Amino acid sequence: MLLNFRAMSEQTSKDPARPHAVVIGSGFGGLAAAIRLGKRGFRVTVLEQLDAPGGRAYVFRQDGFTFDAGPTIITAPFLLEDLWQLCGRRFADDVDLRSLQPFYRIRFFDGSILDCSNDDASMAAQINRFAPGDLAGYGRFLAASEAIYKVAFERLGHVPFDSWFDMVRLAPELVRLGSYRTIYGLAASFVKDSRLRFALSFHPLFVGGNPFNTTSVYGLIAFLERRWGVHFPIGGTGRIVDGLVGLIRGQGSQVRYGAKVAEISVSGNRATGVRLVSGERFDAEVVVSNADSMATYGDLIPAPLRHRWTDRKIARARYSMSLFVWYFGTNRLYPEVPHHTILVGARYRELLRDIFDRKVLADDFSLYLHRPTATDPLLAPPACDAFYVLSPVPHLGGNIDWQSAAEPYRRSISRFLNDTLLPDLERHVVTSKIMTPLDFRDRLSARNGAAFGLAPELTQSAWFRPHNRSEEIQGLYLVGAGTHPGAGVPGVLSSARVLDTVVPDAASFKH
Ligand SMILES: Cc1cc2nc3c(=O)[nH]c(=O)nc-3n(C[C@H](O)[C@H](O)[C@H](O)COP(=O)(O)OP(=O)(O)OC[C@H]3O[C@@H](n4cnc5c(N)ncnc54)[C@H](O)[C@@H]3O)c2cc1C
Repeated sequence: MLLNFRAMSEQTSKDPARPHAVVIGSGFGGLAAAIRLGKRGFRVTVLEQLDAPGGRAYVFRQDGFTFDAGPTIITAPFLLEDLWQLCGRRFADDVDLRSLQPFYRIRFFDGSILDCSNDDASMAAQINRFAPGDLAGYGRFLAASEAIYKVAFERLGHVPFDSWFDMVRLAPELVRLGSYRTIYGLAASFVKDSRLRFALSFHPLFVGGNPFNTTSVYGLIAFLERRWGVHFPIGGTGRIVDGLVGLIRGQGSQVRYGAKVAEISVSGNRATGVRLVSGERFDAEVVVSNADSMATYGDLIPAPLRHRWTDRKIARARYSMSLFVWYFGTNRLYPEVPHHTILVGARYRELLRDIFDRKVLADDFSLYLHRPTATDPLLAPPACDAFYVLSPVPHLGGNIDWQSAAEPYRRSISRFLNDTLLPDLERHVVTSKIMTPLDFRDRLSARNGAAFGLAPELTQSAWFRPHNRSEEIQGLYLVGAGTHPGAGVPGVLSSARVLDTVVPDAASFKH
């Protein structure tokens, strides 16, 4: 049976009667795009420059520890289930997704703790301890978040937004939702306690935006989490990536590693395929780029062919922050530390100014600490814990020399964790690896080393963001964090869904 299936896959992957689609990059957006195009009759080849799939969600193993490099907070599982269903399969057969309760712990600089979840009684009791006067406002915030979700996620997330008319048609809805306001402004209009204002407004940091200038549309994330939960797969996020690659191969399509695209070939104004750095060429009727959108235009398409995304516009675009990530394993357990902890420093607005505006490396930080072994102990050797700690830092548009700054910065984070959540940490670290903005630039080909592509500001959203159907080149499509709707696993999966609207049916290509 397995042999027959393989034989069928081999045959369909070479089937010259089917139009060919090339996908550049194997991030979540690229893999989801490949599945959707495969389902619609295309023969798909995914070309990935790295030696394994996932992009930001790459997995590395070191000294018996398994580290997911990127996404760990899995929301909107129905978007993944859709992809399995398209292939006639069940997500649950391939991935054991566990629902987390609480979703995450926020530990404020004064030592107070808020365990965020969709358990109303627990949230009410905690808010009453923080600021009883804010409970009613919290309820009103949740109602606002739901209203935003219903419009922005359910109705706008998979609209292509490639005509100005879409924007004009939907503008009244966006205005009615107050999308001109910032997410921090929205939270502050409902609650007074500064810690609660943080808890209701920090979500854009998960997609690279500064809550003080990111549109309140991102207020939808609170409802998304509340309605669908926060999850983590046994075996790590990499299990989902492997599952997606399995679906692609099952459709008879191919995923090639070590295949860096140097150029998108264009004839007239139409994409005709790609050329790899090695010189190898692939002809294609459809080219989808999951590479950073600004790098797609700036590096893969010659300047004379571009009218909207000129070199000048790419240089002037506003980029998301970057990240410093320290992955480490300990030869002891920290059972009191939950799966996800957000450690909030004393400065909120000013620290974000350092990161987004001044672009300097501050001495203090706010951190996200991931302890996946809280949910799956097999991600580390027996009696050991796997961790990563992530600190938002400026992108490479600043003047930080990461070659010399990285190790002292890691040490100061280590000391901070040692003195707060992880006593004796410094004596128990047995494996260690860091990722700096240079890795985002050099490994993942991200402009400015930005961790989440273009910043999610109102003037870089929807029609203003690079379109999913390229406005420059026919037959070229964009998916992933740098196009509509934006970063985060749900965002990039939604970007692939837009392709179903904008890519013509395979049957329409004469062969
Ligand atoms: C540390 C970290 C933690 C995060 N945590 C979360 C989280 O908990 N929850 C959440 O929802 N989101 C999270 N995110 C955001 C989320 O991971 C990303 O927005 C999303 O995974 C990006 O997917 P993408 O489709 O844009 O592709 P990417 O992951 O950016 O992948 C693009 C791929 O294209 C390849 N590529 C680029 N150029 C070329 C080329 N020329 N030729 C061939 N290949 C090329 C790259 O190598 C890469 O593999 C996190 C991000 C980071 C960095």
